[in-house]
Amino acid sequence: MNYTSFLIKYGEIGIKGKNRHIFEDALVRQIKYSLENADGKFEVTKKQGRVYVECLSDYDYEETVECLKRVFGIVGICPVIHVENNGVDSLCRAVESYVKEAYDGRVCTFKVNARRANKSFSLNSMEINALLGEKILDVMPGFTVDVHKPELIINIEIREKVYIYSDIIPGPGGMPIGTSGKAALLLSGGIDSPVAGYMIAKRGVQIDAVYFHAPPYTSERAKQKVVDLAQSVAKYAGPIKLHIVNFTDIQLYIYDKCPHDELTIIMRRYMMRIAEHFAKENNALGLITGESIGQVASQTMQSLFVTNEVCSLPVYRPLIGMDKQEIIAVAERIGTFETSILPYEDCCTIFVAKHPVTKPNLKVIKHSETYLNEKIESMVKEAIETTEIINVK
Ligand code: ATP
Ligand code: MG
Repeated sequence: MNYTSFLIKYGEIGIKGKNRHIFEDALVRQIKYSLENADGKFEVTKKQGRVYVECLSDYDYEETVECLKRVFGIVGICPVIHVENNGVDSLCRAVESYVKEAYDGRVCTFKVNARRANKSFSLNSMEINALLGEKILDVMPGFTVDVHKPELIINIEIREKVYIYSDIIPGPGGMPIGTSGKAALLLSGGIDSPVAGYMIAKRGVQIDAVYFHAPPYTSERAKQKVVDLAQSVAKYAGPIKLHIVNFTDIQLYIYDKCPHDELTIIMRRYMMRIAEHFAKENNALGLITGESIGQVASQTMQSLFVTNEVCSLPVYRPLIGMDKQEIIAVAERIGTFETSILPYEDCCTIFVAKHPVTKPNLKVIKHSETYLNEKIESMVKEAIETTEIINVK
């Protein structure tokens, strides 16, 4: 079938009243951005409360649908054919050949759902439904009519042209990026944080990312892995400003001065402080992590309490109640899992103690941090100043 356009169905954003146009404009913008990854020339338009993608040249159908499936805010993608509006006979022929080509041999119930936006057409909607219903029954032996619960709805829209569509490919749902502000994602090379970024982006939030790199303990390849993961998330979330913080000196200093069983928790507090610095600098309204209660020692409720204590921005933890298997299922679906499981070292694992505290006490941790007083401020400043920024698309 040679589809000439896609009708984009959007759910939640349709109900936002006066803000509706802001959401629609963001949706159009994100569709255009996503289609940059597809071969072909497209025009994305918003008319009469509908968003259409018109295909202006040859294009790859599968690739185009894949791109659209990554645009948050879309609930359904309907491949459409349009034909000239040349009266009733021509309409019947077009619909007959459409159903024959799309559903050859199929056994199912159906109904026709016509909308006559162009009132100059000689039949009204009810009459079109009845006539086309009959015509379809004639050419499709496996089809029977069910007007209440049809398995298939053949939609006909009579406008300047005639639009025919029946298939609805599910979109990702959510809200278009850029409609909910910005947040900074602490992005490691693991399985969890890319999923966390995806989930918050799905609510329309633009994402910045911060990665703590510890060369030479973590390699160039570990860093590249994080860039690759940011790229995978950017397919959904749009361009990501990725900050690569050189964390080695801070880690070594903590290792040198603090009790080893408190290392991870103190290190995580410095990560949050630095990430919050970049969040504020970029007008982000929150931090995002891939933490989930009880997953590891640094994610017990006590540890989360102690880590959280250094932040003044809200910390969004969308995986907080999820099991690893559930997180992996999302990672597989969004295409980050394969990269996440590549075996490059992470800065957290290198300095990790054999028996890290699982129930850190805030007072004790704060006291241990005083051992860092001499140099830590200048080290944090240095880490911030030497941070590398990569704009990932
Ligand atoms: P992930 O699979 O996301 O790496 P994890 O299970 O390994 O998570 P931790 O190492 O405890 O868990 O990290 C918890 C969260 O802290 C991560 O989800 C991420 O948001 C952040 N984080 C951990 N290490 C780094 C890092 N090197 N750079 C940036 N953020 C990090
Ligand atoms: Mg990790």
